[in-house]
Amino acid sequence: MNEQHGRPSGSPIGLGGGKMAKIIGVTLSERVLAGLVVDNKLAGPLQCFPDNDDDGAMIEMPTDELVKMICEQVVCAARGTSDISAVGVALPGVIRNGVVEESPNLPQLKGARISELLTIKLAEHGLSTTVNVMNDADGMASGLAATLGKLDRLIRVWTLGIGIGYGRYPFIDGVWEGGHGIVSLDDKERFCGCGGQGHMEGIMGHRAMRLRFLDMEPEEVFEAANDPSSGDKRCLEFKKLWHKALAAATATEIHQEGAGKFFLTGFNVRFVDLPMLRDYLQKMVKMSPLQSYSVEIVKDDAETRVIGSAVAAEQAAARG
Ligand SMILES: [Zn+2]
Repeated sequence: MNEQHGRPSGSPIGLGGGKMAKIIGVTLSERVLAGLVVDNKLAGPLQCFPDNDDDGAMIEMPTDELVKMICEQVVCAARGTSDISAVGVALPGVIRNGVVEESPNLPQLKGARISELLTIKLAEHGLSTTVNVMNDADGMASGLAATLGKLDRLIRVWTLGIGIGYGRYPFIDGVWEGGHGIVSLDDKERFCGCGGQGHMEGIMGHRAMRLRFLDMEPEEVFEAANDPSSGDKRCLEFKKLWHKALAAATATEIHQEGAGKFFLTGFNVRFVDLPMLRDYLQKMVKMSPLQSYSVEIVKDDAETRVIGSAVAAEQAAARG
C-alpha cells in the first residue's frame, strides 16, 4: 500500500533554488479541511471548520460567508508563509473553469465563480496565489495517486456514500459524472438524487437505498442478505443488484478508457463483497486487452483528500 516510487519528472513546481513548492489543499463537504502540503506530504496540522459536530453548518452558509471562512482556513494552514504557490479546493459538484456549475449538496454555490472569489479574498489577506477548484472525487483520485506514488498512472475511484462519486486522475477537461452512469434500463429505477432514471447512484447511493427500503436501513438490508438463515430473498436480490450496478459502471469505464486500477472508498465500502463484484466484472468484461484491471478498497481519509487537492492544484499551476 505505502510503496513509494520515484516521482515522475516535472511533478513538483520548482520555485528556483531547489525549494519545494508550498501548496494549500482544501476539501469542502460537511466541513472544511485545509492543510499545507509540501512534496506531496502534509507539512502542518489539518485545519477544520466547524470543529464540532454541526454537520449542517455549511449548507446554511451563504456563498460570501463560505468564501470568507475558506480563506480563513487557508490563512491558518499557511502558518505565516507568504510564498504559497497554489491553493487547491475540492468540493462536491460539477466544476468547470473555476465555476460551480452544479452542486446538489451545497446548492448556494451553483453558478458561483468560486475560483475568482477565493483569489480576490485571499489577496485581501495578503496571499497572492492561484486557486484551482476541482470536483472532490477527482481530488481524491489525485490524493491516491500522490500518496501511493502513482502520479504516472491512470487512477479511477468510486466514492460510495450518500451519493456516488467518480473521480479520475490525471486531469483532463470535461465532465464525468460516473455515479450517474446508466446501469439499468428498468423504468422503475428512479431513486437517483438527480432525478434521472436507471442511474448507478439510484441503486447504490445511501439516500437511494433508504428510499427503496422504507422499512429497513441499508445496514439491515446487507445484514439480512449476508445471513443465510434470514431467508430474506428481497435483501439478497438487492445485494446482487447493488454489486451488478458497481460492476456495470466499472465495466463501462473500462470499455471507455481501458483497464487499470479502480479504488473504492466512502463509508459504504463496508457493504462491498469483493468476490461477488469480481465475478460480475468478469462476466461483463470479455475482451482480452481490457482484462488487466484491478479493484481495491481504500480508507477514505481526510489527509489523502487534502493532499489530493494540493497535488491537483500544483499540476494545474504547472499547466498554466
Ligand atoms: Zn443520477
